Amino acid sequence: MSDHTPVLIVGAGPVGLALAGDLGWRDISCTLIEKTDGSIEQPKMDIVGPRTMEFCRRWGIADWVRDAPYPGDYPQDCVYVTSLDGYELGRERFPGRAQEKCPPQSPQKRERVPQDMFDPILQRFVAGFPHVRLAYRTELVGFVETANGVTALVLDTATGATREITADYLVGTDGGASVARERAGITMSGNPALTYTTNVLFRCADFPALHDKGKAYRFIFIGPEGTWLTIVAINGGDRFRMSIVGSADKVTHSEADIRAALRRAVGRDFDYEILSVMRWVRRELVADSYGTERLFIAGDAAHLMSPTGGFGMNTGIQDAVDLGWKLAATIQGWAGSSLLRSYETERRPVAVRNVTEASSNLGRMLSTRQRLPPPEIFQTSAAGDAARADYGRWFSETMRHEWFTLGFHLGYRYDGSPTIVPDGTPAPPLPTSSYVQTARPGARAPHAWLPDGRSTLDLYGRGFVLLRLGRDAPGGERITGAAAEAGVPLEVIALDVAQVSELYQCRLVLVRPDGHVAWRADAEPADARALIELVRGARYCGSLRQSQRGGRP
Ligand SMILES: Cc1cc2nc3c(=O)[nH]c(=O)nc-3n(C[C@H](O)[C@H](O)[C@H](O)COP(=O)(O)OP(=O)(O)OC[C@H]3O[C@@H](n4cnc5c(N)ncnc54)[C@H](O)[C@@H]3O)c2cc1C
Repeated sequence: MSDHTPVLIVGAGPVGLALAGDLGWRDISCTLIEKTDGSIEQPKMDIVGPRTMEFCRRWGIADWVRDAPYPGDYPQDCVYVTSLDGYELGRERFPGRAQEKCPPQSPQKRERVPQDMFDPILQRFVAGFPHVRLAYRTELVGFVETANGVTALVLDTATGATREITADYLVGTDGGASVARERAGITMSGNPALTYTTNVLFRCADFPALHDKGKAYRFIFIGPEGTWLTIVAINGGDRFRMSIVGSADKVTHSEADIRAALRRAVGRDFDYEILSVMRWVRRELVADSYGTERLFIAGDAAHLMSPTGGFGMNTGIQDAVDLGWKLAATIQGWAGSSLLRSYETERRPVAVRNVTEASSNLGRMLSTRQRLPPPEIFQTSAAGDAARADYGRWFSETMRHEWFTLGFHLGYRYDGSPTIVPDGTPAPPLPTSSYVQTARPGARAPHAWLPDGRSTLDLYGRGFVLLRLGRDAPGGERITGAAAEAGVPLEVIALDVAQVSELYQCRLVLVRPDGHVAWRADAEPADARALIELVRGARYCGSLRQSQRGGRP
């Protein structure tokens, strides 16, 4: 006999854990399988972006992330050096995470929490839901999709036994080499090899004492050949990750290469212990499809990007949140038949944008290989000082694109989605470094503090929310009636807060369970049923799309 689960999630990396947690939080039973025992040999991600932190806030676990043991006072500077016993060319200063302030556009800020601290937080979140099953040492080896679901064959990697799990839906969050993606015949497009890079996790009791550059999150090393190495502080203590950046030429760095690189970076031999070595290929790929009727892919299974920018996991967790409420709505029976299809329409363009920007960031970090440093920057002289100031200024300016990315983290939008109602206002350009909040349909509903100390974001998440803004807002009875008829969970919240009215621009705003604006206007639509049908992914209604006008002039 086979087990049955509404949703089988394959791969308990951060994205699979986030999806299982989101479904659990929505009272949906699911099973998450992971082929390993869950231990992390080498943490990859370490920046939890502000949007991911907003989701953690929604799930009630933001404090767990804030309290993770990465020391709050460890400076997050990014420093450009010729070597640690050489010259500093430039520095972008960032305070320790305890001192960093939330941006005005969000009730949360990014957090430096590496994967071996973050995954256990997500595991603890998932473990809190009795209706979510997490099975380690369980590997997906194959599956068959039918009109009604998926039958998966899984292997117990400890005993070698196989068994079947049937599911209404299967989601592959099984990383870059996704079996789910491959077995579903989904191809990827882009550049399969930007660099062949070697990451080395090493322990050194007091690394900052070896040099005069102080504590910093990241050192970027520039030699006569341009950028060749980075070292980042993984836990703000005794563990560091060195990356020999490499190039598109296939190389395998040996242990001798690794030790020579560390010696060159520090300027001398020193005591350290190599904990793990990960040789990997930096890719720029996006899946051509995000799934079928019963199978979906998310996270690295759907997009692979250079880590430059810290977008990879954060993009994947956004996928999980977009998919989570749509799966829940479908399983609970109030979704239209095309709601799940809008997952790809909404999320794939975001992946393409982030993958492209990640590669541009890599290009900027490696731009020193085209504009090679002048020989004087390695010399102690007045001419050397001048050359360093000049080159460092240029490189610091170039690198700012990677460090200031609020527009990518918070400003992604679902403008073209069939479940979003355009309001006729022109689309502002997609933000990059800076981010101006907008409540235009498709955008993340803006944050503002409410008089009771909550954020507007605290109002969203479970079902739809109809905001009635200002003293003279219409009652919204037609919309609530249509929602009730279709079984769509909808809460009406009246607010008379000037800043909220200013940000949201209309008297009625419909916010989806993922916190994106679905529709806004000053009056109820004549056919409220058409609105509800559209936002739940049911019937398309042309007249609604054309007649609704949003923001006040
Ligand atoms: C050096 C480096 C630094 C990075 N820094 C950042 C950062 O700061 N911020 C950021 O957002 N991103 C960062 N990234 C990217 C980020 O690590 C990935 O995007 C993220 O880990 C993807 O998560 P995932 O859950 O989709 O996939 P993965 O983390 O790859 O997890 C997939 C899981 O699926 C399991 N699995 C695979 N096949 C099967 C199967 N058949 N059956 C069962 N289980 C299976 C695997 O064992 C694995 O646990 C970085 C990446 C690198 C390499």
